[in-house]
Amino acid sequence: MIDLVVVGSIALDSVKTPFGEVKEILGGAATYSSVAASIFCSPGLVGVVGKDFPKKHIEFLNKRKIATDGLSVADGKTFRWSGYYEFDMNQAHTTNTELNVFSSFSPKIPKNYLESKYLFLANIDPLLQIEVMSQLKNAKLVALDTMNFWIETKKQELLDIISKVNLLLINDAEARELMNTPNLVQAARTLLKKGPSAVIIKKGEHGALLFTDSMCFCAPGYPLEEVKDPTGAGDSFAGGLMGYLAGTDDTTVENIKKAVIYGSAIASFNAEDFSLNKLKKITKEDADKRYKEFEKLVEF
Ligand code: AMP
Repeated sequence: MIDLVVVGSIALDSVKTPFGEVKEILGGAATYSSVAASIFCSPGLVGVVGKDFPKKHIEFLNKRKIATDGLSVADGKTFRWSGYYEFDMNQAHTTNTELNVFSSFSPKIPKNYLESKYLFLANIDPLLQIEVMSQLKNAKLVALDTMNFWIETKKQELLDIISKVNLLLINDAEARELMNTPNLVQAARTLLKKGPSAVIIKKGEHGALLFTDSMCFCAPGYPLEEVKDPTGAGDSFAGGLMGYLAGTDDTTVENIKKAVIYGSAIASFNAEDFSLNKLKKITKEDADKRYKEFEKLVEF
């Protein structure tokens, strides 16, 4: 039984941070999100890789009990992203994006995913996000993430899908760019008017803000002693959050607040090492322990 369908990029990433450099390692928005979600529920992945994608990565996903029936292997090369971070690790600098097999991908949702009540449209072409959403008629909560690449190349298509989802996740710089305002509260208010009933603005190491029409909730960032590579932090935040919502099957605002804290906990683990190296080792118990530390952080 699939609790949460995740569509998005599955990538080979090359990343440089002040603390090291890695080439062609496992990455991608859907990869980080589904691994994070698998701590709380049973996700099913939708996406495409090329024939060059190492089999060991698919074996790893299956070991995490992530269904890969919706993962196609196409002729051609896997999606690749390369980027670097300077000392301000909130800001990723993209050096290259190669869509490769994603440029001709037409997603087909497998039968065993169709009953899923939760759908996460992780970062990828908004047209693919729309295609997936139109096939999952039973979803009661659909969340969407994106990035500047799509704001700059497919803005209208992106606004179109934003108008159809329940929950929008976006980082601070992207919210400012998309809504053309320096003010995050105004950006969130305008985004809420476009359709979603909740908007989450991610602020990197400074935490996240959850907005609905009637309230604003502020989650702190976890004060990490060591950050090696923030790649995938936004995706693991979203995966942790959606995994928790799907696992508890509770979409009340009170539970969404808890999910924001679980998402923040998982994202903080992810930044402690490159690729999915840290996330791989995290259990529900680790997540619960960090959740409690978050509670202590804001108690006064
Ligand atoms: P983040 O959580 O924002 O750090 O996302 C990092 C992941 O996004 C990397 O593993 C990349 O493979 C993936 N990525 C980068 N650019 C794109 C893009 N234009 N579309 C989809 N995924 C991307």
